[in-house]
Amino acid sequence: MVKNQREGDQAMPKLNLLELTDAGLYCRPGDFYIDPWQAVGRAVITHAHADHARSGCARYLASTDSESILRLRLGDDMRQQSVAYGETVALNGVSISLHPAGHVLGSAQIKIERQGEVWVVSGDYKIEADSTCRPFEQLKCHTFVTESTFGLPVFKWRPQADIFADINSWWRSNQAQKKTSILFAYSLGKAQRVIAGLDAALGQIFTHGAVENVNQCYRRAGIRLPATRHVAGVTDKNAFRGAMVVAPPSADTPAYTKRFANAGKAFTSGWMQIRGMRRRRSVDRGFVLSDHADWNGLINTIIASEAETVWVTHGYSAEVVQYLREQGLNARQVETQFSSGIDRAEA
Ligand SMILES: [Zn+2]
Ligand SMILES: [Zn+2]
Repeated sequence: MVKNQREGDQAMPKLNLLELTDAGLYCRPGDFYIDPWQAVGRAVITHAHADHARSGCARYLASTDSESILRLRLGDDMRQQSVAYGETVALNGVSISLHPAGHVLGSAQIKIERQGEVWVVSGDYKIEADSTCRPFEQLKCHTFVTESTFGLPVFKWRPQADIFADINSWWRSNQAQKKTSILFAYSLGKAQRVIAGLDAALGQIFTHGAVENVNQCYRRAGIRLPATRHVAGVTDKNAFRGAMVVAPPSADTPAYTKRFANAGKAFTSGWMQIRGMRRRRSVDRGFVLSDHADWNGLINTIIASEAETVWVTHGYSAEVVQYLREQGLNARQVETQFSSGIDRAEA
């Protein structure tokens, strides 16, 4: 992105809108943090996944669409200023606006601007359309802080329509054997996207409580999902025969799954693309479906941002930085604390 500058002007000294501190990405002129991992005064939140939205901050600023999920996760007494996508708010002379990241309901890229200098923090994002959240918006900026969860060329997603067809045919074949289908999917985002892609005409869709709670937030936000029923309320075990159960990966324990006498298990994640990951999870099937951009999605987005400087975080940052430098971009690794185990399951 070309700076707003007359020819012959002395280049202005670079204004760093963000710096990395012990508590996370900090905007000193605006006095706020983005997705801090410690309790701070003011937190601007990209989305409600646990490693991005932590409790204990005095004030939160986040998208209107994410409010009910953040309250579910951080408690009803959290103080949130809700901002609509595209709306600009000013904090100490720094303009902040939130733009759809296409990752989960309410997920946002954070755009900050001061004296013509524009930085964008991507949060987690994906490019492919998702019927359960607003589509990713391509932004332009001087410095782009991008995630890189799947930042290796080996990660290349097939169209989700193909994946949903695979999931539905797996469900059908389990039904033919009178089996329950248990699909493990992260409770916020992936589960709702998968449920929206299920062929509800095949049978009943049951949910784990953690999934059902988030489903309710989605429905309140106007997202249409097929009817689902919380497993806990079911006394007749025969009801599960031939049905689909959507549960978080943490529910893959004998204590939870024993109620489904005869069941097939599958896991949905971008990590299923790696041989061995499915075996490690001891499931019958792995469906490669991610709420993050794949390699091409990441690289195309970074190039299209026209950023002169790219900060890469949250994943295969060394590999992405090396590739961007080879393309002549000014790229550096920024080690945040987002690359947690939670994100690995969420991805
Ligand atoms: Zn996330
Ligand atoms: Zn993340």
